[in-house]
Amino acid sequence: MKKLYIAGNWKMNKNEQETAEYFTQLLLVQDQVQDSIEQIICPPFLYLHSSKKLTQISKIIIGAQNVSDRENGAFTGEISAQMLKDMGITHCIIGHSERRQYFHESNELIGKKYIILKKYGIIPIICIGETLEQRESGHTNNVLREQLEGIFRDKVIQEDEQLLIAYEPVWAIGTGKTATPDMAQEVHSLIRNWLIINYNHSTAERIPLLYGGSVKPDNIQELMNQDDIDGALIGGASLEITSYIKMIELAGEIKKC
Ligand code: PEP
Repeated sequence: MKKLYIAGNWKMNKNEQETAEYFTQLLLVQDQVQDSIEQIICPPFLYLHSSKKLTQISKIIIGAQNVSDRENGAFTGEISAQMLKDMGITHCIIGHSERRQYFHESNELIGKKYIILKKYGIIPIICIGETLEQRESGHTNNVLREQLEGIFRDKVIQEDEQLLIAYEPVWAIGTGKTATPDMAQEVHSLIRNWLIINYNHSTAERIPLLYGGSVKPDNIQELMNQDDIDGALIGGASLEITSYIKMIELAGEIKKC
């Protein structure tokens, strides 16, 4: 049975107490979570430590939302891959469109972050996606190819390497507008084909492709039912614990081989 990854990106939300309340609720339903579901929650850096402690006896995966591209040194305010590793963090989002838009992150920089995560054995969740303008001018495919080529320079993905790619159309993030299942499937299939052409079938099949952009309980099943969609990266709807639990429950009803 194929795994379905249900990842929550909290962005800059919640405090210590809300974090504890969230995980207390999530822990209560763990025996009902299907084995096919991988739960990943990415709280802000400050709460990674307490989140790890709260969830240590469960299968809940705690991920970071960002990492520095540098090893260590005079980079005020940055968090290194080594620090994440030290804290037992196994997953990290990179290339989120908010980081590209507000912090001017380029594909080249995201590529460096990918390499440093890889060095420390942290599994990256790499976000790519087009803006509305790029979609409307018919440039979606080229933009995605450029992002993939910019990040994965020189055929860097290894045979047994673990990584996740999240397709997140920028126009669908936090806007309430979702790509239709067909639209999302079309792009996921393009990404899968890019991996086949540049690597091989087994690498392409092995890398989970997540969809992100206004995923919520109402639309998660039709999106997850698409052939090339292996999970969801969810912002707003993952913040509310009842809605996150609903989504892992609904995704758990989907059986993919
Ligand atoms: C995200 O931040 O990755 C995201 C997809 O947000 P939302 O679900 O709120 O659109």
